[in-house]
Amino acid sequence: AYVAQESAIAIEKGMAYYTPARDPYSPERLTLVTELRHALEHNELALWYQPKRCLKSNEIVGVEALIRWPGRQPAVHADQLIALAEQSGLIRPLTRWVMEQALAARNVLLEAGLDLTVSINISPNNLRERDFPLFVQRLMTSHHQHRGRLILEVTETSMMQDPANSMRTLRSLDYAGIPLAIDDFGSGYSSLSYIKQLPACEVKIDRSLVTDLLTHTDDRIIVKTTIDMCHNLGYQVVAEGVEDEATTELLREMGCDMIQGYVLAKPQPLADLIAQLRPGDRD
Ligand code: C2E
Ligand code: CA
Ligand code: CA
Ligand code: CA
Repeated sequence: AYVAQESAIAIEKGMAYYTPARDPYSPERLTLVTELRHALEHNELALWYQPKRCLKSNEIVGVEALIRWPGRQPAVHADQLIALAEQSGLIRPLTRWVMEQALAARNVLLEAGLDLTVSINISPNNLRERDFPLFVQRLMTSHHQHRGRLILEVTETSMMQDPANSMRTLRSLDYAGIPLAIDDFGSGYSSLSYIKQLPACEVKIDRSLVTDLLTHTDDRIIVKTTIDMCHNLGYQVVAEGVEDEATTELLREMGCDMIQGYVLAKPQPLADLIAQLRPGDRD
């Protein structure tokens, strides 16, 4: 049995943020769910974008969309917001909203002369929705999107709650030509049997394995082995959470295909990202 706990406002690095009560039926949590539903319905949530660089061409090849709740005090972090949405049934409309925004963003990028892939994060709950692949296909069509430019990111652990249904959804998406990325690889319970079965094109190595790459020999061995294994299985490899040039160079030597992380940019609003990627453009 869990101990019901009061919600608390924690202070970390000078920032106040929301810490959930363990009790899912606490008044605080119910209020927050109501607030989140309102924010979703009134378009008060936002997507911020973080670029992904190819280490071969040195070009920015894509962006990942990450959810934000601007103006919310105390701030609710992305993973917290997603957990709340998953527990309250809001993840279905939220993911649909995210997808529409991301596709619209891709068209804005195209108009700015930036033909980038857009990656979005999918919750395990979405993989259990029977109509999910159909929804994705319809949306792609209505936004006149080419296949292969919207990438769906899923974690391996998200498969494990309902492997049969999740796999069926992923196969349908794959059949429809929607590329899939395995997110957070190397965190939690990675399973080599899943990675082999998943119809993915990209594996994203978790930040926890990348952070201490320069100083930890063990991490270096694990990352190098993961890159080689993924290449042998036909996957492109992205290193997440790269924060400095030295780590970038090490990953390049290891044959890593792409990087994401603060070394390139923090997640930011679309207009800011476009301005950053097109520095020559004034007014
Ligand atoms: P994720 O998909 O693994 O996203 C990467 C997280 O790492 C993001 O946190 C990003 O801001 C952060 N990050 C990127 N580069 C660096 C770096 O160099 N250093 C450090 N320290 N952090 C870095 P964020 O935006 O707080 O998102 C947290 C998680 O929330 C995401 O992890 C994802 O699992 C989930 N999430 C975010 N947006 C969505 C969404 O629209 N839908 C779903 N289902 N999940 C989402
Ligand atoms: Ca992700
Ligand atoms: Ca990740
Ligand atoms: Ca994550």
